[in-house]
Amino acid sequence: MKKILGMNLEYEEWQELLKSLGEPAYRADQICQWIYEKKVDVLEEMTNLSKDLRALLEERVILGFPRRMKGERSRDGTKKYLWAFRDDATVESVLMRHGQHRTACLSSQVGCPLDCAFCATGSGGFQRNLEAGEIVGQFLAMEKQLEGPIQNIVFMGMGEPLLNQENLFKSLRMLRHPKMRQLGIRHITVSTAGIAPGIQKMALIESPPRLAVSLHAADDALRSELMPVNRLHSLEELRRALYFYQEKTGDRITIEYLLLRGINDEADHARALVSWLRGMHVFVNLIPYNASSEGENFFRPPFPERVISFQKILEEKGINVEVRRSRGGDVAAACGQLKKKELEEKTETPAPSGRTYGMGEKKKEKAKDRRGRPREMAEGSPRGEDRKKRTEKPSKGPSKKRRFPD
Ligand code: SF4
Repeated sequence: MKKILGMNLEYEEWQELLKSLGEPAYRADQICQWIYEKKVDVLEEMTNLSKDLRALLEERVILGFPRRMKGERSRDGTKKYLWAFRDDATVESVLMRHGQHRTACLSSQVGCPLDCAFCATGSGGFQRNLEAGEIVGQFLAMEKQLEGPIQNIVFMGMGEPLLNQENLFKSLRMLRHPKMRQLGIRHITVSTAGIAPGIQKMALIESPPRLAVSLHAADDALRSELMPVNRLHSLEELRRALYFYQEKTGDRITIEYLLLRGINDEADHARALVSWLRGMHVFVNLIPYNASSEGENFFRPPFPERVISFQKILEEKGINVEVRRSRGGDVAAACGQLKKKELEEKTETPAPSGRTYGMGEKKKEKAKDRRGRPREMAEGSPRGEDRKKRTEKPSKGPSKKRRFPD
């Protein structure tokens, strides 16, 4: 008999399973209490179930939170975990503290197909979607480690949640179900790189979560270079989806904007952002690029005065804006870094930064240009070609001065 994965079951599915075994419906309450309240993921330890029922379930169900492979604590209190699933695929989750409140940053995919230029996860490629139980499992495993509740969730870890919609939406139902984790939907934020159709679909689910969008540029050419997903879903399409989400939910949307020196941190870029945000109720998080993040050979943190003037331009136009310092810099808290570190420790060779991730040493060396940058970032790749074209024919407006720093 093929066993089912118990962590993937919603409350009603537990009820059905137990009914099929001739058990009363309240057994589902008991099992969910063990898993979601007491963080028990072993049937043997569910002592208010009869021995016979436990034996029956053992034959049909596999339970278990993800295994902790690594855990690190930053000076600012941020904790970072690396979890492994049954197939040994690994993902990261981060736990942040804000006063008395804790926020878990969860992953939704193993790796990520979107390949953003500044991201360690994207450079490692995509392996698979996480199942709903694996998404929820990261959260419960963290609560078990902490021996206490976590109040908020942000989907900002590895992967693009809206490319794994069904499992994401199922995990949201499980997290907020009154018989399961009972988390208020207002305490959950889904962050997307801009999957416009997914945003529209999420607006229509029962109790949509809060929405955050990683924008990082408000003109298509630059955004496509930083985030190739923009070639599929342009800024205009994204803006229409955000209007729709706001119309349906009435919620303020969070805009994440990573400031990269000389690339997207100038006054023209700030003005382009102001104009793109027109008519939307938003909160903007400016995130100065962290030098310890992936891609440090390539991207640089903005100068502090640039950050201040960028913020001022937004404020003067009445936009709510805050500069957010990235947390956990000393524990490689940018997504994908802990996994990369683990890989380096296992292989005893540094995992390459940038787009050559996963290649052999010879290939890696070949793939670098004279400055030690991954060659495909400099030439030949879609991004490299874009940059070449712009160097040859500088266009008007914000993109005129755009270039990657040497
Ligand atoms: S930043 Fe997010 S969406 Fe972009 S590659 Fe990394 S994980 Fe994927």
